[in-house]
Amino acid sequence: MVTSVSILGATGSIGASTLDLLRDGAFRVTALTANSDAKKLATLAREFDAEIAAVSDEAAYTELKTLLAGTRTKALAGANGMAEAAAARSDILLSAIVGSAGLAPTIAGFAKGRRIALANKECLVTAGRLFMREAQAKGAIVLPVDSEHNAVFQALACGKRDAVSKVTLTASGGPFRTMSRERLAIVTPEEAVRHPNWSMGAKISIDSATLMNKGLELIEAAYLFDLAPSQLDVLIHPQSVVHALVEFHDGSVVAQMAHPDMRIPIGFCLAWPERMNWNAPKLDLAKLGTLHFEAPDYERFPALKLARSALETGGGAPNVLNAANEVAIDAFRAKRLSFQGIPGLVEAVLDKAAKEGHLREPGTVNDALAVDHVARSFAATLLPQFAAKAS
Ligand code: NAD
Ligand code: MG
Repeated sequence: MVTSVSILGATGSIGASTLDLLRDGAFRVTALTANSDAKKLATLAREFDAEIAAVSDEAAYTELKTLLAGTRTKALAGANGMAEAAAARSDILLSAIVGSAGLAPTIAGFAKGRRIALANKECLVTAGRLFMREAQAKGAIVLPVDSEHNAVFQALACGKRDAVSKVTLTASGGPFRTMSRERLAIVTPEEAVRHPNWSMGAKISIDSATLMNKGLELIEAAYLFDLAPSQLDVLIHPQSVVHALVEFHDGSVVAQMAHPDMRIPIGFCLAWPERMNWNAPKLDLAKLGTLHFEAPDYERFPALKLARSALETGGGAPNVLNAANEVAIDAFRAKRLSFQGIPGLVEAVLDKAAKEGHLREPGTVNDALAVDHVARSFAATLLPQFAAKAS
């Protein structure tokens, strides 16, 4: 039987890598979504003969509908359109919207036995406990696309859960791994998006440069695998070949390695529990020669410390951290905030939210989105103070 796939965030970097794997025709495409790029979405919907194409931005609807005239693809728009696209019946829902905007549509896609291939880590950071509880209640199976979590998922299969002593996520260290504090103060968005190993969307590239990405991933791992913060560790590994390590009580450490190419974890999720037989780039360790590891520098990269502390605080703290970080990244990209202003602003928003009692655990998606909204408005209010320091 042909497997059907829907992609939330089809026009992005993960969307492109996924569609690349679907091009051999072994899969059928049900729904594709984008934020506002109707042209790119319509082109993809035509190429893959999708049943549904949805744009989140209602202003893009007319263009999308016009571009799809004469095809069988149904055009949809807005929050309802996104939810309808997510819920349309398909075997796999690939969740690859960037940011907390992915939460509501992904949860709308939960259904019994449906595979949720999750790239959107912000879902788990914004409302991790709720997300996993809802998935279980609806009978959806969550598989991690994020390379480190995909590695953990694979390594965990080598032992019983209660025999796991530690889970380590590796981090490349980003483009500024060896940069001095003084130089970090003046890095530009153009430098920050240039990741040494991975080609990714702008937001996650900047998160990789601040190491906030690894912080978000610690939170993602804690909820996804039900791990205590004390069981989670981060290791800098500039080659991005070892993606994660799981240590068992008997001292055995099981690691997963692969060439740094997101099509490998995506292909894993598409084929699971089988293995996809495609022309994957293979590892040549003899050619690589050396793999390097070092401890993260929490002083030069305070975002990692902030994220760990938000995970330890729990409740709504990771949600506030995420929302403030999204605002800070937009401001950095607009050159209204310095690179080091990103964790600075996030910390200030977390402090304000704690003082004003906004760190409650979300009980519903609307609760989570309400706290996300409050944190964004705090960030917008506090931004001018930090922006002044940026120049
Ligand atoms: P991207 O910016 O390249 O693409 C984002 C996609 O989301 C686009 O299709 C865009 O149209 C859509 N989108 C953006 N804002 C939206 C909104 N408000 N409403 C609806 N749709 C919206 O991002 P990406 O690099 O593909 O990353 C997607 C997700 O996957 C992120 O959560 C990221 O952390 C995660 N991830 C990415 C990689 C990677 O290699 N790119 C690796 C691991 C995890
Ligand atoms: Mg990752």
